[in-house]
Amino acid sequence: MAAMQIEQLRSRVRGAIVQPDGESYESVRLLYNRMIDKRPALIVRCVDVADVIAAVDYARTNNLLTAVRGGGHNGAGLGSCDDGLVIDLSQMRGIHVDAAERTVRVEGGALWGDVDHTTHPFGLAVPCGFISSTGVGGLTLGGGIGYLTREYGLTIDNLLSADVVLADGSVVRADEANNADLFWALRGGGGNFGVVTSFEFRAHPVRTVYAGPTFWPLEETAEVMQAYRKFILNAPEYVNGFFAFLTIPPAPMFPERLHLKKVCGVMWVSTGPAARAQAATKPMRSVGKPLLDHQAETPLPAVNSLFDGLYPPGLQWYWRADFVKELSDEAIRRHADYGAALPTMHSTMHLYPIDGAAHRVGKNDTAFSYRDANFAEVIVGVDPDPGNAARITEWCKDYFDALHPYSAGGAYVNFMMEEGQERVRASYRDNYDRLIEIKSRYDPKNLFRVNQNLRPAVTAG
Ligand SMILES: Cc1cc2nc3c(=O)[nH]c(=O)nc-3n(C[C@H](O)[C@H](O)[C@H](O)COP(=O)(O)OP(=O)(O)OC[C@H]3O[C@@H](n4cnc5c(N)ncnc54)[C@H](O)[C@@H]3O)c2cc1C
Repeated sequence: MAAMQIEQLRSRVRGAIVQPDGESYESVRLLYNRMIDKRPALIVRCVDVADVIAAVDYARTNNLLTAVRGGGHNGAGLGSCDDGLVIDLSQMRGIHVDAAERTVRVEGGALWGDVDHTTHPFGLAVPCGFISSTGVGGLTLGGGIGYLTREYGLTIDNLLSADVVLADGSVVRADEANNADLFWALRGGGGNFGVVTSFEFRAHPVRTVYAGPTFWPLEETAEVMQAYRKFILNAPEYVNGFFAFLTIPPAPMFPERLHLKKVCGVMWVSTGPAARAQAATKPMRSVGKPLLDHQAETPLPAVNSLFDGLYPPGLQWYWRADFVKELSDEAIRRHADYGAALPTMHSTMHLYPIDGAAHRVGKNDTAFSYRDANFAEVIVGVDPDPGNAARITEWCKDYFDALHPYSAGGAYVNFMMEEGQERVRASYRDNYDRLIEIKSRYDPKNLFRVNQNLRPAVTAG
C-alpha cells in the first residue's frame, strides 16, 4: 500500500497501525485458532470510534478486503484476512455498568471475561458463552449461547442497542426505535452490517451459581443421552446443563483414577440456592452409575473461565455444527460411536440446550432463526500439535456427516467453518431474504464480507 496513503490514515487514527515489517506484526496478527494462519497487509488497532470510522473510510476508498476483529476467536478465522485490512477492536474493551437500570454498555472489542469482571461486583451478569476469552462482538452478533440461555435467553435477546459504523463511514444507533431493521439483522446476522463499536445489554441478578460436572462411563452413553433429552427439556429454566463427550484432563481437580479417561457427561450450572439446584438435577444425576458427580457454589466468572486453561489460544481447531430438534435413538447410537473415538484429549462434542427463554422469542423476531431447535450441537477436533490437524479434521467431518441427517438442517453460524452460501442460507431459513434486503441497503458493495457472508442482491462496482 502506498506509503503516502498510509501516512494519511496515520494522521487520522490514534491507535497503532501495524504492517508486515512491524515489530509486533507476527504476534498481533495471530488468531485464537492456529489452524488458520492469515497475513493481512495492514492492521489498524483502533482505540476509539473515530479510529474505526477512519479505518472504514480507508478500506472503502482503497477498495480493500476488510476484516473486523473482535476477540479473534472465530473458528473459521473470520476476524482476519490475507493481504487486506484488519480493523482490530482489541484495544476497545471499556465497559460501563448502570446498576440502577441493570444495563451494561460494552465496547466492541471486549472479551466476555471483561464483562464478567465488571458486572460481578454489582451482582449482575449478561448471558454470555461458556468460556471467558471469547469476544463479545462475534459471539453476540451470531446469537450467543451459554449457561444462562434457558433462563434469560440468547445474548441477543438481552441486547438493547448497538452503535454501528456503517460501510459509508456514518455512525448510527440501532435499537427497537431507531434503525429497527438493522437492529433486527444485527441479532444473529453476524458482522455483515458494519462495525459495532458498542453494545448495550440488559443484565440479570446472577452472582453465584451451583455448578459442576456429572461424568458417566462411555458404556452408559445411550442410557444417559436418552435420559438427558427428556430431562433437560423439562427441567426448570434455572437449571442448565450441556451434554458432552470428553477426555478428563489430568488436572488436580479430578481424581487420578479418571485422568485421561474418555467419558460422557453433563456440565451443570444452576442459578439460585444450592438445595434447589441439587434437588432439581437429582433425577438426571441418578441415571446409571456416575464416575464423578460434583457441584459446588461458584462465582459465575469462575465458571465462565473454567475451561480457559484447557483451551488457551494457539491450539488447532476444526469445527462442525448443526441445530437439533429431536435426539432420536438412531442419532444417539451414532453419537456413541463417534464419542468413543475422540481423536485427541482436547477434542469434544457439546450439545447445548437452547429452549426455555430462547424459545419465547419468535423465529422471525430476530435474524437468529432456529427458535424451534432444542439443541445446538458442535463437534470440535482440537489439538496443540499441527501434525494432528488432518486427524482431528477427518474425525470431525465424519462425525458431522453421520449426524447431519438427524439435524434440523442449518447450524449456529458461530460454530461453522467457511462452508458455502447454501449452508448460510440453511442457517437463516426464511429470515435469509430479509437479511439480504437489509444487507443490500446498509452494505451494497459488500465491504464487510469476511464473515458468514450475506451477499447483497447486486454487488455494485
Ligand atoms: C473456545 C471457544 C468457545 C466458544 N464458546 C461459545 C459459546 O459458549 N457460545 C457461543 O455462542 N459461541 C461460542 N464460541 C463461538 C464464538 O461465538 C465465535 O467464535 C465468535 O465468532 C467469536 O467472536 P470473536 O469476537 O471472538 O471473534 P472474531 O474472530 O474477532 O470475529 C468473528 C466474526 O465476528 C465479526 N465481529 C467481531 N466483533 C465485531 C464487531 N464488534 N463488529 C462487527 N463485527 C464483529 C468479525 O468480523 C467476524 O466475522 C466459542 C468459540 C471458541 C473458540
